Amino acid sequence: MKRITVLGSTGSIGTNTLDVLGRHTDRFTVFALTAAKQVDLLFKQCVAFKPQWAVMTDIAAAQELKDRLQAAGLTTQVASGASALVDVAQDEAVDVVMGAIVGAAGLPPCLAAAAAGKQLLLANKEALVVGGDLFMATVQEGGGALLPIDSEHSAIFQSLPDDRSSWARRVDKIILTASGGPFRTRDPATFQDITPEQAVAHPNWVMGQKISVDSATMMNKALEVIEAHYLFGLPPERLEVVIHPQSIVHSMVQYHDTSIVAQLGTADMRVPIAYGLSYPERVTSGATPLNFETLSQLTFERPDPARFPGLQLAWAALKGRPGSTAVLNAANEIAVDAFLTGRIRFDQIHVVNAETLGANWSGQTDTLEALLALDVDARQLAGAVVARLS
Ligand code: NAD
Ligand code: MG
Repeated sequence: MKRITVLGSTGSIGTNTLDVLGRHTDRFTVFALTAAKQVDLLFKQCVAFKPQWAVMTDIAAAQELKDRLQAAGLTTQVASGASALVDVAQDEAVDVVMGAIVGAAGLPPCLAAAAAGKQLLLANKEALVVGGDLFMATVQEGGGALLPIDSEHSAIFQSLPDDRSSWARRVDKIILTASGGPFRTRDPATFQDITPEQAVAHPNWVMGQKISVDSATMMNKALEVIEAHYLFGLPPERLEVVIHPQSIVHSMVQYHDTSIVAQLGTADMRVPIAYGLSYPERVTSGATPLNFETLSQLTFERPDPARFPGLQLAWAALKGRPGSTAVLNAANEIAVDAFLTGRIRFDQIHVVNAETLGANWSGQTDTLEALLALDVDARQLAGAVVARLS
């Protein structure tokens, strides 16, 4: 039996994770579930999975959950605040941690899990984009495993040989696929009229709001290029993006002899989640298999830089000074929030990101504290750009 903590259990990845766990109760027990403030759903999850701990970052929400659990006669203990997230991620009773919080808020608990040598399943790409080299060094020192849950990175990981030390030598390039999101064919001249409702309506995947907006701007792919750089150790010029609107080929590895190895499947996050949970074994995921007889076509196209200007910020940040990827992430979190709350237009998300990345910031990247301070500074810079635009 492996004991698991699911950070962000009430989100899209979190609920998919519990769906897979529910299929394999002979292999896993849940140690802790965490959420920001969704009391109803976390309560239901506690009833179903009976974790030892439930953590809510919101104090009032935690109190409400505690009262409801007590009234229902459940023994799950409740904690609140950001430090409780770290506690349940590094607790010695835990074997596996699913990092499914959205944004840089997930960095401290993910880093704690890595330092404690847990098997860390990472959906929370922002944590790695902010943590960068420190994150990867912490995984190494902790001695645990880091398994990507992002579908593209799971696909790449599945397409690479087991011998990690051979990757840089054997691989020519990594090709990340991207769906192109909801605005792949919309006239860019009308991008300023895009509403939050239109931006979060992804054609292929049902996901949280933030990643849905990121998919619409293709900043999601920019974050994923950065994520791929840190996970697989390839330089930025050997990372490519191709648009593949059907989301069947989840990403590819091209070797020096030009052979391409890819992973395919239906668009269902339970597949990479099941892979991460069972690695190196394979267990059922609940996903529907691909049916080649009904697959009409697989198409590929080059991303248009004029339509998706944010994509190239990935390479700009990777080639920039240390801390650039953390600054870009912070700017984007501020920009997406400003867009979702009606303060800036869709097309201004890129303005906030590009201006913040290009601003005169400085900071260290060698400790968690330094990175969090840089994150705060970058949010302030981005906030100033938002204030000017709105
Ligand atoms: P979501 O918004 O649906 O869920 C986020 C979860 O984190 C919720 O449980 C929420 O309560 C919690 N949370 C939010 N803010 C928090 C904070 N400040 N502190 C603590 N907890 C907080 O998001 P999602 O779509 O499940 O995405 C989660 C992560 O996985 C993101 O980093 C996203 O990029 C990545 N990801 C998601 C998908 C997908 O299909 N949804 C695919 C690949 C990668
Ligand atoms: Mg992805």
